[in-house]
Amino acid sequence: MAEHGPAKGSMIIKPHGYAVWEHTQRALDDRFKATGHENFYFPLLIPMHLLEKEADHIEGFAPEVAVVTHGGGEKLEEPLAIRPTSETIIWNTYSKWIQSYRDLPLLYNQWCNIVRWEMRTRLFLRTSEFLWQEGHTAHATEQEALEESLRMLDVYREVTEDVLAVPVYSGRKTANERFPGAVETFTIEGLMRDRKALQCGTSHFLGQNFAKAYDVKFLNAEGQQEYAWATSWGYTTRMVGGTIMTHGDDNGLRLPPAVAPVQVAIVPIYKTDEERSAVIEVATRMRDELTGQHNLRVKLDDRDQYRPGFKFSEWELKGVPLRVEVGPRDVASDQVVVAERLEGNKKQLSTGEAGSSMVEMLNDVQRSLYEDAKGFLEANTHDISNYDDFVEGVETEGGFWVGAWCGDGDCESTITERTKATIRFVPIEREDPGASCMHCGRPGTERATWARAY
Ligand SMILES: [Zn+2]
Repeated sequence: MAEHGPAKGSMIIKPHGYAVWEHTQRALDDRFKATGHENFYFPLLIPMHLLEKEADHIEGFAPEVAVVTHGGGEKLEEPLAIRPTSETIIWNTYSKWIQSYRDLPLLYNQWCNIVRWEMRTRLFLRTSEFLWQEGHTAHATEQEALEESLRMLDVYREVTEDVLAVPVYSGRKTANERFPGAVETFTIEGLMRDRKALQCGTSHFLGQNFAKAYDVKFLNAEGQQEYAWATSWGYTTRMVGGTIMTHGDDNGLRLPPAVAPVQVAIVPIYKTDEERSAVIEVATRMRDELTGQHNLRVKLDDRDQYRPGFKFSEWELKGVPLRVEVGPRDVASDQVVVAERLEGNKKQLSTGEAGSSMVEMLNDVQRSLYEDAKGFLEANTHDISNYDDFVEGVETEGGFWVGAWCGDGDCESTITERTKATIRFVPIEREDPGASCMHCGRPGTERATWARAY
């Protein structure tokens, strides 16, 4: 799927991994368009003075920013930051695009790469450069911007659950965990097979912070000057890693059909040339039917230099949901054998009904992967009965731990230092936990969900 690049922290995404990203991208982009957004593109390089205008934002990002100081063999007059995210350059430009309430809302998104300097690299999950989309919207009212940020969080939830088959919890970040410059950060969080949490996508309600920093004012319907309201939201190639780590087993990947680059691999089995031509003919017809009539992504693996057994394990390792075997006896009896990657079950199907049966089987695989992962998520979400049990449970069992918290950031940090767990989220609408803080005993104000995370 990927390997390390020559520069420390960088990643080469190989075709099989990139294809999973392409399918994810398409699923997101279709939904962005359906909710009224358009794509645009802003430059990779951001003049330093622009990056520094929003105080919280630069404070949060400063340790991760890569800066270009030389160009064309000369030292630059002003250093240029490589975008760690694009709020600054985009809101600087929005000040020219927004004059009146008639210009609003702006509903834009861009697909691009991002650089955030990382020392602890982990392929797909944590690399210094990654691919993502970043939505940047501007609104006339607070209410509208808040609704937009929650709408896009739900788009992320839908793609993650329905397309990647990764079940998630939706929630709100605490002040300590918020995006630098945001008023609220909303998140979806999944649980990987090693019982560590993964932040799968975030959507931010930015209030008027960026409008004030970049002087984005508009004339409202009553003829008064007002600052615009902002959101931003991002989803990255990390979710290729999230999909691998949610579904993989001891034999390799198990890819959800919706994003599998190859959904059906057809492996012909033969010994003689005569058998070969008969088998390849049936296999080719099957491939054409599956692609043409059923719109499936099919690979006919007719490589002569490898034996069928080798091909079986290669497609298994690559996570291809269905494998079709066609041998001389199958040709004679007008049938094929279909093996599914999930449990390794095999079925004999007549060639006539194979196509529509495989479409159903793929739907079942998609559903089973999600149900499996959801069962795992629920089985590994625990209520906290007392602080000591929580400390021990996070260490020995992992998973999500839910309990009452006082809402104080220092108390939160103390718990994190002790346990290496962070609050992954609190409910989007504040809920009274009905108990005192598990750590300090002060009145509980939030029902917090903790985990160790990537
Ligand atoms: Zn506390």
